[in-house]
Amino acid sequence: MLEKSLKILFDTSDVSLVRKYVLRQFTKLLSGRISLQDLTFAKEYRGASNYRPGACVPVLELTRKWLTVDKRSEPRHGERVPYVIVNGPPGLPLIKLVRSPRELLSDSSLFPNVTYYITRAIIPPLNRCFTLIGADLNVWFNNMPRKQIHFLNNVTPDSTNKKGAISHYFATTNCVACNKKSQQGLCAECSNSPQETVTVLQNKIRLWERSFHEISRICDSCAGHPTNMQCISLDCPVLYHLAKANKDLQQITYVKQVTSTALNIEL
Ligand SMILES: [Zn+2]
Ligand SMILES: [Zn+2]
Repeated sequence: MLEKSLKILFDTSDVSLVRKYVLRQFTKLLSGRISLQDLTFAKEYRGASNYRPGACVPVLELTRKWLTVDKRSEPRHGERVPYVIVNGPPGLPLIKLVRSPRELLSDSSLFPNVTYYITRAIIPPLNRCFTLIGADLNVWFNNMPRKQIHFLNNVTPDSTNKKGAISHYFATTNCVACNKKSQQGLCAECSNSPQETVTVLQNKIRLWERSFHEISRICDSCAGHPTNMQCISLDCPVLYHLAKANKDLQQITYVKQVTSTALNIEL
């Protein structure tokens, strides 16, 4: 993204075009349209004895966690260990937000920490160049309209008890139809126009189902034959799309439940 932004700047010397490009990338991130694969860092593991005691190193943190489960799970020296930064309650040290991409793929309550990626990973290197011409990307970011699309709250009471509440912290309630913040699963406005709402929801469900089936087909053909075996290669881009489609699919039950409670209509 740094490269592309600088290229636009040199080719056109038009800062407003760069701004447009950068904000479009931010919007993609905020709306969850960037693959987890692009948000994955990979750092070399140097071996437990080669870190300072108490060092806050993501790769080391993950390794420590793995070792409490399985003594043989230590990465080899020099192995590149992938990790991502997830959402968490405010005030939690960043190191506690480090996860393996596999955890995100299998746990639908975990989400990449988009604000972290934008303000701590993307903006600083860009700003080193752009402050020279008087542009500050933090200002661009802070002034951009926020239409963050939240995942619907598909956390059922018993899944909250299984794991700490931490990972669910950001699962705020949004209207299942219009996505606006709402006290109930369906906001008052949408409850008052049941016909439109049902159409919107049916379309959503159809879209989720269709993309899940399409992506599963691609994954089947990449695995060579239709199979229930999970493709587990973290290098396979389809895996990430499939996990995302799967998350969407899991929301269907919740959407149906909300509609049946609020409108007394079975989708
Ligand atoms: Zn609504
Ligand atoms: Zn695959």
